[in-house]
Amino acid sequence: MSFATGLLCRECGTAYPSEARYSCEFCFGPLEVAYDLEAARGVVTRETIAEGPNSIWRYGALLPDPGIEPVDLGVGWTPLRRATRLAEVLGVRELWLKDDTRNPTGSFKDRVVSVALSSARRLGFTTAACASTGNLATSVAAHAAFIGWPSVTIIPSDLEKSKIAMTAIFGGTVLGVEGNYDDVNRLCVELVAEHDDWAFVNVNLRPYYAEGSKTLAFEIAEQLGWRAPDQVIVPVASGSQLTKVAKGFNQFIELGLIDGPAPVLFGAQALGCSPIATAFASGADVITPQRPNTIARSLAIGNPADGPYVLDELRRRGGDCGSVSDDEILECIGLLARTEGVFAETAGGVTIASLRQMIERGTIDPNKSIVAIISGHGLKTLDAVVETATVSSTIEPSLSAAEDALRFHQLVAAS
Ligand SMILES: *Cc1c(COP(=O)(O)O)cnc(C)c1O
Ligand SMILES: [Zn+2]
Repeated sequence: MSFATGLLCRECGTAYPSEARYSCEFCFGPLEVAYDLEAARGVVTRETIAEGPNSIWRYGALLPDPGIEPVDLGVGWTPLRRATRLAEVLGVRELWLKDDTRNPTGSFKDRVVSVALSSARRLGFTTAACASTGNLATSVAAHAAFIGWPSVTIIPSDLEKSKIAMTAIFGGTVLGVEGNYDDVNRLCVELVAEHDDWAFVNVNLRPYYAEGSKTLAFEIAEQLGWRAPDQVIVPVASGSQLTKVAKGFNQFIELGLIDGPAPVLFGAQALGCSPIATAFASGADVITPQRPNTIARSLAIGNPADGPYVLDELRRRGGDCGSVSDDEILECIGLLARTEGVFAETAGGVTIASLRQMIERGTIDPNKSIVAIISGHGLKTLDAVVETATVSSTIEPSLSAAEDALRFHQLVAAS
């Protein structure tokens, strides 16, 4: 059973039942799922959670709709790995990687889609849809195929070929829009008004969708042996993930499942789309939208819906937000792969490069524990690295040619 009680306006606090509603009738503020944590205290325990499945649904009591046959492709419970070699390069004491490349469609988006479509099922929807920078479309198409629903996924038409293929293969309708994500999102808000029987997971189902990101915090805390790390670095697009990772840690603390304080959160953005990092650095209260231009396409949201809440979280808790160039992103995809054996997409490069940047400027404490969320698999953005990640040498099929090459690469001593 779930301890969700309904929806709550994040601005004026008006309460609504658990219905298909995403903005407040009175102030147009965004809604979020509310819980009766008082009632959950002592009922949701470390033991009851540990008895659950090895997926996000072990936390079903703290998600909106675990009761109605959750839509579950086997999402979550991804590895949390100690990264000792990368820690040494970065000069930090305790670094962990939350490896969300290991989800069914290769990105953290499977968490939010699994939760959103479970709620969509309860609410009587029968078509899955989304506005996407790529990974969300793939996940929606896959989960819709899994439950036999039609899907309509809407993406910028110039996305990476690999991401388009990974979405189209599931057989839904993929609309490529000649424009950027912010154009796609605007279009989807209009489409929701025309097709309110379609579950646009990140538009009209957004309150439910967002809850899925809390499971990152839940898993990190449980996998660390029921403790909160000191610092967590989160890649930021719309900002939904970062705000819900914060909510997840806070709920665990409130339930007495872990001790406080909650970790300090840090954002990671690409320089070519850094509206939140820019506002944070300048002390601005409002976020000025940007026109994205970066290889980190999955994070290319120039007008982030949850931006103000991210700013608030970073400022209240002493966080920071990195912004890194495309060259640094590529460099850090390689650094992560070489030191830890994890191949991340461009968003992972953003996370590691931002981590390095914030260590260098002293906002991340190298002596305190750090968790970095690696949110997508490198195969998703192969285009970004195929030019540079190539064979070491091309040789004739002869022993002498091989030996020459091995000497050249200093694998055997020169004779
Ligand atoms: C969508 C996405 C994010 C962040 O998403 P938010 O919109 O900020 O919740 C991070 N990494 C990857 C790989 C993504 O696809
Ligand atoms: Zn309101």
